[in-house]
Amino acid sequence: MSTGSVEVVYRGIFQKSLAKNICRGIVFAAKKEGKIGIAFGRYSDSPERNGIPAKQFAVVADSEEEMEENLSRYEPDNNDVTIAADDTLCKGVESWAWYGLQPINKLLKEGGTLLVPSTRSSESLIGDIHRKGKPYNLAIVKAAASFSGLWVYKDDHTDVRLLGALAKVAPHIVSLESVVAAINEPKKNAAKEASARKAYALVASTAIGADNGNATVPYKFDLPGWKTMEEGLVIRGMTGEQKVPGRDGGYVPARNPTFKKFSTRTMRPVVNFDTCTECKICWLQCPDTCFDITPDGHYDANMEACCGCGVCEAVCPVDKCITMVNEEAFKDNGSQWEMWTKDKKSYAAWLSEKISEPPPRSHGFHHVGQYAGEIANESS
Ligand code: SF4
Ligand code: SF4
Repeated sequence: MSTGSVEVVYRGIFQKSLAKNICRGIVFAAKKEGKIGIAFGRYSDSPERNGIPAKQFAVVADSEEEMEENLSRYEPDNNDVTIAADDTLCKGVESWAWYGLQPINKLLKEGGTLLVPSTRSSESLIGDIHRKGKPYNLAIVKAAASFSGLWVYKDDHTDVRLLGALAKVAPHIVSLESVVAAINEPKKNAAKEASARKAYALVASTAIGADNGNATVPYKFDLPGWKTMEEGLVIRGMTGEQKVPGRDGGYVPARNPTFKKFSTRTMRPVVNFDTCTECKICWLQCPDTCFDITPDGHYDANMEACCGCGVCEAVCPVDKCITMVNEEAFKDNGSQWEMWTKDKKSYAAWLSEKISEPPPRSHGFHHVGQYAGEIANESS
């Protein structure tokens, strides 16, 4: 039996076309083998706000009966392969307020494969991925994050590379030759075919044990059952001001307690409090009201609320006072201001390490540039 399903987790808007291309490619390739295939979004995570994790699925079956059996589930929860289209999704997925934080491997079946385009090693990535409690495989296609915008698509071959890699890790779903045949229809595309074949040859898979990975328990909350739901559409207003916990003075804006938004982020701002002039501009301009006012008058970007848009970096009038840093450099959402208050010298060292070490990346909002060089680098 060659029935199987693939979950594609992607960043809303920035990777919507990429996810669609991957799922459509799976269906077209499966059809080349005489199978039935269908691709669909997950009851729409729309509006797919910039960067918010969203999902599409592709299901492949030998017969209509098998397909019906697969589709009888609301959401495929036993996927052969989960593709995380951006490696920072490995920290977990919070799609609006449906679940709390869902581990990226949650809907992956035992023995399945989590496939990630990344320049990181499996040892590094597994530090971010929550423990599954069942063995599975982590496969990496060497590639930088592929982001584009609402009306443009960055055709950098990430889609065909992932399809080529999929053929390697789950040949019962699609073979390399059927992927190649789908790529070359209606018109031959030798460069894309070469990218798919290279990814097939180079994808590296590592067995992950049941207890390997990030031991942190992802935050969750109780969903209302059908008996506990209130009548009508209820959107609670936020309650009034909160003081900075445990301190005299300061101000923490009230925030939605269930939708924390941090899994939207691919980069985070780091603040140099030593050079901050307390001008308030970041606080005023942050579209997500992320800045807490500290008792000493500084502005502390709350890392549970920040979606990583980069506006604060752009508007801060002090050179290098706010710097957007690759999210892979961080393991928690702790307060930077608290760290700075405790030990200013250590904070300065931490700040300089964070700014200089991690590989640069785009947070999607500012993606510009050419990518011919990227195709050559990542296909080798
Ligand atoms: S990156 Fe800056 S402006 Fe954007 S949400 Fe985070 S704190 Fe606010
Ligand atoms: S915009 Fe820059 S200088 Fe002004 S308060 Fe924010 S961090 Fe400080």
